[in-house]
Amino acid sequence: MLSNIKVTRTTKSHFDQVDWDNIPFGKVFSDHMFIADFIDGKWTYPRIVPYEPIPMSPAISALHYGQSIFEGLKAYRDPQGKPLLFRPEANHKRMNKSAERLCMPAISKEFFLGGLLALLKEDEKWIPKKAGYSLYIRPFMFAIDEYVGIRPSESYRFIIFTCPVGSYYNAPLNVKVSDNYVRAFPRGTGYAKVAGNYAAGMLPLKFARQEGFDQLVWLDGKEMKYVEESGTMNLFFQIGDSLVTPVAEGTILEGITRDSVLKLSKELNIKVEVRKISIEEVFEAYNKGKLLDAFGTGTAATIAPIQTITYKGFRMELPPVEGRAISQKIHKALDAIRTGEVADENGWVIRL
Ligand SMILES: *Cc1c(COP(=O)(O)O)cnc(C)c1O
Repeated sequence: MLSNIKVTRTTKSHFDQVDWDNIPFGKVFSDHMFIADFIDGKWTYPRIVPYEPIPMSPAISALHYGQSIFEGLKAYRDPQGKPLLFRPEANHKRMNKSAERLCMPAISKEFFLGGLLALLKEDEKWIPKKAGYSLYIRPFMFAIDEYVGIRPSESYRFIIFTCPVGSYYNAPLNVKVSDNYVRAFPRGTGYAKVAGNYAAGMLPLKFARQEGFDQLVWLDGKEMKYVEESGTMNLFFQIGDSLVTPVAEGTILEGITRDSVLKLSKELNIKVEVRKISIEEVFEAYNKGKLLDAFGTGTAATIAPIQTITYKGFRMELPPVEGRAISQKIHKALDAIRTGEVADENGWVIRL
């Protein structure tokens, strides 16, 4: 696919130093990374090098003006131990959507997927063998012009590194609905995976954590009425026997897990509604005893059950996680596809 990749292998692999039964999320990095540069209007110099610090000018524009985007996906092993990737083409597409919004160059499939496959070939042994574990993959791109002035950078760097990971959240989540800060607003950058979106959410999240919550649920930026998403997860509510997820109209990051859950629900004959849902509606359903489940979806967290939702001091206590048959059914179906236990009818899985 991408044939001219220069490979420089590490001389000191730290594979044997990893405590494989106890991997903290996002803190263990595999041996190599893939790098390519956008210079003079084209992607060039694809290379695989040891994972290590990269020298850079203090004036690179990503640091000052925030032209920086990222993706997140995972590699798994099937029951025979063969590695597979889940929907990497969807990540490639979304990365280019983010790039367009920040006036950054698109990256070709050749570089994105070609670089990724070449990197995984080098570091295949880093894809964990243990059930429930996977290799988290972080492609990202940032502006590298050495220039203090606001204009789109002319040069960019694209990097992919990987982290073996266990599960992201261990316990069901206690979330707070943000009633003072917002994450995104119409016509802004909410739909794009741009670094600045997450920086803006950190102060509100810090306050919520000080109050003992795990995550924030964001409301729409205009009326602060409709539920949007939570952390790096899209949200689903089970009201009666129907799943409801907020419609994505530019302020919500369209998760690939969300899309997969929507498609699987249809296959499993589970009722799903993609529409606006106000926080009042969630409360009404709760008061009528009809709010049976709420969960977040995302690559890092997969399907993360929510235990309590607090809004303006009122706390909704959801049913025990063990009894949530619908989301567990979807979770099982999704995991079975991602780990190659069942045939993939949707063309989601790519084998290395
Ligand atoms: C990445 C992300 C998600 C989830 O997307 P997936 O493709 O399912 O991992 C949801 N919301 C936000 C804000 C995100 O950054």
